[in-house]
Amino acid sequence: MTRKEYRTATKLVRGGVKRSANQETAEALYMTSGFVYSSAEEAAAAFRDEADVFVYSRFGNPTIKMFEERLALLEGAEACRATGSGMAAVFGAMACQLEAGDRVVASRALFGACHAILTKILPRWGIVTELIDGTDMAAWETALAKSAKLVFLESPSNPVLDLVDIKAVATLAHKLGALVMVDNVFASPLYQQPLALGADIVIYSTTKHIDGQGRLLGGAVLGKRDFVEDVFLPFYRQTGAAISAFNAWVMLKSLETLPLRVAAQTETAGKIAGWLFQHLKIKKISYPGHSSHPQHELAKQQMSGFGSLLAFEVDGGEAAAFTVLNNLQLIDISNNLGDSKSLACHPYTTTHSNMSPEDRASLGISGGHIRLSVGLEDADDLIEDLGQALAALGTR
Ligand SMILES: *Cc1c(COP(=O)(O)O)cnc(C)c1O
Repeated sequence: MTRKEYRTATKLVRGGVKRSANQETAEALYMTSGFVYSSAEEAAAAFRDEADVFVYSRFGNPTIKMFEERLALLEGAEACRATGSGMAAVFGAMACQLEAGDRVVASRALFGACHAILTKILPRWGIVTELIDGTDMAAWETALAKSAKLVFLESPSNPVLDLVDIKAVATLAHKLGALVMVDNVFASPLYQQPLALGADIVIYSTTKHIDGQGRLLGGAVLGKRDFVEDVFLPFYRQTGAAISAFNAWVMLKSLETLPLRVAAQTETAGKIAGWLFQHLKIKKISYPGHSSHPQHELAKQQMSGFGSLLAFEVDGGEAAAFTVLNNLQLIDISNNLGDSKSLACHPYTTTHSNMSPEDRASLGISGGHIRLSVGLEDADDLIEDLGQALAALGTR
């Protein structure tokens, strides 16, 4: 009998469930580091990978497996492994496949720690990365005219919400035999499916929308079985990137409400973007769903929703941005994102302060730039909060 292919919301409630002999309704939380064997022979077979049993929670765990299976169903991926943080996913998915002499091509607009792995850590092992303007297809063509092992990109990017044409980049990369890895945190798995667009590997910080309530760290690597199970898994098992079963269990249950939460946040983000756009103190907004976004057409092609993150630039540079942040009464100042609480940050002096002024300028991260992660509060309360904080700039 073939299994019925359910729709997304159903997969997120039912996918991956494996009940124990107790027939519990909710997924069980297996807080155990180890597992016992019925015989010495079974233990020996387990270590030869010949027995279908759990061995040690650094290798795999029943709760973690349910989380991985549910995520793989959502993404439409053959395989998934969950990690202790988003950065463990990014680093592991790179380090498991790269070696000295390899060349990586990446879009310059990246999460700060991803930028640091590519520019500070991997070069110590002789792996060089060329960073380019990911919005510029001509730059991709030039960079991918010579051999590369891996392409890494984020779209929409943090913190400026630039897009990369994933399908076009994947076509170029595959001519060289390079794998394409996409950090899909900003879009969330609901609104963009990089694998369907031609990418080979998708990574998440599940800390963000997937937990969605600002509690836990986690990450995931998804892709074809021959990458995730044959290349990534051996590295993951030996280097200790595993997620805690508790964190996996909370996030497994969070997946049940992901579509409801992200849809509500996205609707509010769209309202806020429209409201900010007409505000006199705002120089520019960046929201892929707004017609003023230079890549709005691409956003409509490769995303099915525009997400809960937006950025805007206030008139008056850093001093004005600090005034706005310091006058917020409801929205918190925090560098986290994807939370049920709306959070605002000043990337220039926080998440991206390690970058040179030239790098920040080339990415469009200016003193007046504020990133907003829209939460689950009432849209009108958020708009009123932004309104009163912007009013503190006066009427010059
Ligand atoms: C948060 C984040 C990461 C890192 O994830 P952690 O869970 O904090 O390790 C990577 N990429 C993007 C786009 C992120 O937002």
